[in-house]
Amino acid sequence: MKRIAASIITIGDELLIGQVLDTNSAWMAQELNKIGIWVKRRVAVGDLWEEIWNALNEESEKSQVILITGGLGPTADDITKPLLCEYFGGRLIMDQAAEANVRHIFETLLKRPMIERNLKQAEVPDVCTVIQNKRGTAPGMWFEKDGRIFISMPGVPHEMMGMMSDYVLEALQKQFTLPTILHRTLLTSGIGESFLAEHISAFESALPDYIRLAYLPNYGMVRLRLTATGTNRPVLEDQLNAHFGRLKERVAPWMAMDEDITMSQAVARLLKAAGRTLSTAESCTGGYIAHLISRESGASAYFKGSVVSYSNEIKEKVLHVDPLTIQTAGAVSEETVRQMAAGVLRELNTDYALATSGIMGPDGGTKEKPVGMVWVAVGNRQKIIAQQFNFRFDRQRNIELTATNALNLLRKFILEDA
Ligand code: AMP
Ligand code: MG
Repeated sequence: MKRIAASIITIGDELLIGQVLDTNSAWMAQELNKIGIWVKRRVAVGDLWEEIWNALNEESEKSQVILITGGLGPTADDITKPLLCEYFGGRLIMDQAAEANVRHIFETLLKRPMIERNLKQAEVPDVCTVIQNKRGTAPGMWFEKDGRIFISMPGVPHEMMGMMSDYVLEALQKQFTLPTILHRTLLTSGIGESFLAEHISAFESALPDYIRLAYLPNYGMVRLRLTATGTNRPVLEDQLNAHFGRLKERVAPWMAMDEDITMSQAVARLLKAAGRTLSTAESCTGGYIAHLISRESGASAYFKGSVVSYSNEIKEKVLHVDPLTIQTAGAVSEETVRQMAAGVLRELNTDYALATSGIMGPDGGTKEKPVGMVWVAVGNRQKIIAQQFNFRFDRQRNIELTATNALNLLRKFILEDA
């Protein structure tokens, strides 16, 4: 089966200078990959006529599908629409449905007066198929020329995502015969990438050519992803599952999860299933773990709250950590996090608790307690365990690493407790 290749062109000066991060092409690439379209190239260009024009020429040499975002706004720097109109040899006409949409947005949703410039958003080249925009004023456009498909969408991420999900992905699947692509992912913790690679090298070299293995290290843990490409979905599923089972056996001592979910989602599932509650006492993570937990919908079933005990005063007054402990052992110590966990368990009256205290940097490190040193405690009424971690990154990453590893420690504790 011949692969269908796609190019993604993102348009906007703000992308080139890094003022806006190009999240569109990453998301689009993932979605295209899922439906079996091969993303061959990603190109970013400024709001310049010649640059966009050349990019269209170049990418249509490389790919059958060219997806474009950006430059569809109502301001003078947005030139994508007139450019596409000239490129495909059309003229601008008012699209009835798009016009009704613009009017609806201004009259009903925004309740703001509309000017001529807004209405111009509803104009489209007469040589395209219009993709209606349910989330904004700029419609998308689908062009076909010399066996190539060009799809232009707004730069605003949620508008582009909506168009892709509502229409574009399905339309592309109808247009081409695409392969089936399946993924299965597991997460390991407590083993480095190179050791892991050594350990599973025999498994890896025995994989058939239609199944590929990827290593995705992050937060001190390594995700392993198997990707299978084929035509017959049920057969492919069976084969992928068989290899995934073998991989799981091989990495059993380090396997944390056999699904592609976040650590807070894994903890959420366990707590929900057990009907148990959780609280956190956070010093160095400043409530970040509480944020990760409460970000999951339905968290109120198992998450009661957090004490952001950043200062010693709060550790002592609210969590009842012994001032003498802080004086002798320090705020970043095993004794302190244990007492923080015990305190929050009692004060917030939960089944489980998690506590963190560490030095996130860049300042505040000493020889005995360097930047990146973190103590984490997790426990219940019967038992509290504590573990020391030593991270060595910048402040933001140290906080993220602390959160993920603390949640993983809690996950293991709940599993063993069950
Ligand atoms: P535009 O369609 O060029 O008017 O873009 C509208 C807004 O969408 C811009 O102000 C950016 O904030 C955002 N945007 C444009 N392109 C991208 C992109 N590739 N990734 C993420 N955001 C984008
Ligand atoms: Mg723009």
